[in-house]
Amino acid sequence: MLNEITISKAIIDSYTAKLKDALDLDVAIVGGGPSGLVAGYYLARAGRKVAMFEKKLSIGGGVWGGGMMFNEIVVQEEGRTVLDEFGLAGREYEKGYYCLDSIDVTATLIHKSVRAGLKIFNLVTMEDIVEEVIGDIHTRDHPDNIMIERLGSRKYRMKPSIDIDFFNREFGTCIEKKGFETLSGFLNYHFGRIPSTGDRVKIDGVTMTIEQAGERAAERVLLTLSRKKTGAIETRKK
Ligand SMILES: Cc1cc2nc3c(=O)[nH]c(=O)nc-3n(C[C@H](O)[C@H](O)[C@H](O)COP(=O)(O)OP(=O)(O)OC[C@H]3O[C@@H](n4cnc5c(N)ncnc54)[C@H](O)[C@@H]3O)c2cc1C
Repeated sequence: MLNEITISKAIIDSYTAKLKDALDLDVAIVGGGPSGLVAGYYLARAGRKVAMFEKKLSIGGGVWGGGMMFNEIVVQEEGRTVLDEFGLAGREYEKGYYCLDSIDVTATLIHKSVRAGLKIFNLVTMEDIVEEVIGDIHTRDHPDNIMIERLGSRKYRMKPSIDIDFFNREFGTCIEKKGFETLSGFLNYHFGRIPSTGDRVKIDGVTMTIEQAGERAAERVLLTLSRKKTGAIETRKK
């Protein structure tokens, strides 16, 4: 009779052993698309200890879809060496353009990279927790327009017209968009009025102090990052 406990133990034990072994790596690849698979294959072939972490259930990224959602891909002459390495012949469509079935390509990349020694962990999302803005950030359209000015290792001055998703990404906060798109919108929403100079809010370990208030919104904000991040929101109104 099938023993469910034995099966569960076997899965847990062998997965844990695999994961433990992957704690010490030469290279960790984030994302199991074709780029990661090809890199993983060559690194494993070169004798490196390499593992890949993919957030989705399936490996292969976008390449399954081929071009235009027709499951064929086209590789140019320059890519031939990679195709040859993987034993993918392709059909020459015109001189220097090779058509390949994207399912065949994806399955082959996965199979060969795993056989070369790449360890793959699916359903694992990697998150970069080293959040430090290095240097100043300028807007693309006006290079002289400094959006974030770095004042010290944990101090910044910024224009609050910055996009909230960008802000969350750079400073590790989790500010939810509630009808606003910018930090300025968040500050108005949070204080329930146009913020005044000296108003302060601390969210997810980031203290924001209004350095200069405008008539319709804050114009400059000072930011201090605490060493210990907390989920608490603290407010001090001037
Ligand atoms: C329908 C469709 C048509 C396309 N047509 C063309 C085309 O005609 N020509 C062309 O050149 N390209 C086309 N593409 C794009 C093609 O998919 C990409 O060029 C190719 O997949 C890029 O490979 P990649 O490995 O760099 O990234 P991806 O294939 O995007 O793989 C990235 C992988 O990383 C994973 N990932 C992301 N973040 C994390 C994280 N934090 N932790 C763990 N895993 C993570 C993702 O889940 C994904 O599996 C098309 C894509 C689609 C979907």
